[in-house]
Amino acid sequence: MQHVVIVGASLAGLNAAETLRSEGYAGRISLIGDEAEDPYDRPPLSKQLLTGEWDADRLPLRTSDELADLDLHMLGGRRATGLDSRSRLLRLDQDESLDFDGLIIGTGARPISLPFGAELQGVHTLRSRSDALRIRSDLETSRRVAVIGAGFIGAEVASSARARGLDVTMIEALGAPMLGPLGAELAEWAKGLHAEAGVQMRFDARVADLVGEGRVEAAVLEDGSRIEADTVVVGIGVRPNVEWLADSGLTIGDGLICDQYCRAAPQIYAAGDVARWPNGLFAHFQYAQPQRTMRIEHWTNAVEQGMAAARNLILESRGEPLEAFTPVPYFWSDQHGLSIMASGITSPRDEFRLVHGSLDSNRFAAIYGLRGYLTGVVAVGWPRMLRRYQAMIRDQVTWEEALASARELEQ
Ligand SMILES: Cc1cc2nc3c(=O)[nH]c(=O)nc-3n(C[C@H](O)[C@H](O)[C@H](O)COP(=O)(O)OP(=O)(O)OC[C@H]3O[C@@H](n4cnc5c(N)ncnc54)[C@H](O)[C@@H]3O)c2cc1C
Repeated sequence: MQHVVIVGASLAGLNAAETLRSEGYAGRISLIGDEAEDPYDRPPLSKQLLTGEWDADRLPLRTSDELADLDLHMLGGRRATGLDSRSRLLRLDQDESLDFDGLIIGTGARPISLPFGAELQGVHTLRSRSDALRIRSDLETSRRVAVIGAGFIGAEVASSARARGLDVTMIEALGAPMLGPLGAELAEWAKGLHAEAGVQMRFDARVADLVGEGRVEAAVLEDGSRIEADTVVVGIGVRPNVEWLADSGLTIGDGLICDQYCRAAPQIYAAGDVARWPNGLFAHFQYAQPQRTMRIEHWTNAVEQGMAAARNLILESRGEPLEAFTPVPYFWSDQHGLSIMASGITSPRDEFRLVHGSLDSNRFAAIYGLRGYLTGVVAVGWPRMLRRYQAMIRDQVTWEEALASARELEQ
């Protein structure tokens, strides 16, 4: 291999580039990203950057010396516009194209917008550094904030805006925050957490319009009620950035479809928020076989999958056997001074049990089961418990074994 192209100069792409070098690849690496900045970290965008604890200069993922050491051909502010996977040709904006021997796609995801309100000042989605800086600047002069969507991003924005002392209303179509990933019991706990912190909440509520003269003044709900707001942050989910691959010959679904090695086609891999693949760790109870796939929108996965994709590209180029990518997914979310940590599959689920601690104390661990197996864990204020059950998920223990082990620990 002489030329590896990485599209997406962010977490997955950067970790892929570093792995190529650490595995001994000395050829050319082109790192293409449509953002102008050097790779930076996103989790602080909804947390420390919004609260004002951090400035943007703390966001870069690597120093300029570390980037220089990787000897990358960096094409910043440039967009990949198309791909011919058979002739291994990548099309770029400005009528350019690049040949490659290996390609790693880490184009991530972008927020879904509402079909109205985009023309009003003060209406935001949050994905990039510049989004976060614009929101922060609006929070500095706002009194009332409406957050639409009570998923992890919405809940973190609500928390950060409250930390600034602002009036915050979270509006959610479902009955509680983070209901999908946490399930009813912990979503109810999260509702209490936000209520105690002074966040106003409207559940089972849909926004019908955003109104104002030039600047947003209110969110109008379908029942006609108005939530007054000087700043609105929309956090209603993301879509994987795959449109540029429409004519590539690769399979696109909700993400770029890969095999268990993160490979979308010979010598072409994907990693991070854009990649969908069958995680064989969960195949023992027919979760991942034959066609059940995962697409994970979390930090640790982007790191690990970027590394795995790069390693497999190198193995493939050497004609060696590839390694299946079988992580136990993990993420954290910081809200109102607590860190919510989750690992494995928490949805869908057949079983849920609070196994340690209590919801009232904000220190607990809860486990999730599906088809007779332990599949997920959520822990708050107790990282050790998170790791304990994460290891059991990796060991494919049954639900009964997990319960027995929890009981033993409690005695
Ligand atoms: C505000 C915020 C807070 C978060 N907090 C947490 C958290 O607390 N815990 C957690 O686990 N996860 C968190 N995440 C998720 C985590 O940051 C992502 O999972 C991670 O950034 C994904 O990395 P990635 O490299 O796959 O994609 P991205 O970081 O999205 O990077 C993809 C890059 O590719 C670029 N790109 C897209 N299309 C093209 C193209 N055609 N040509 C060139 N470049 C292109 C994009 O502009 C972007 O720079 C958070 C995310 C956000 C936005």
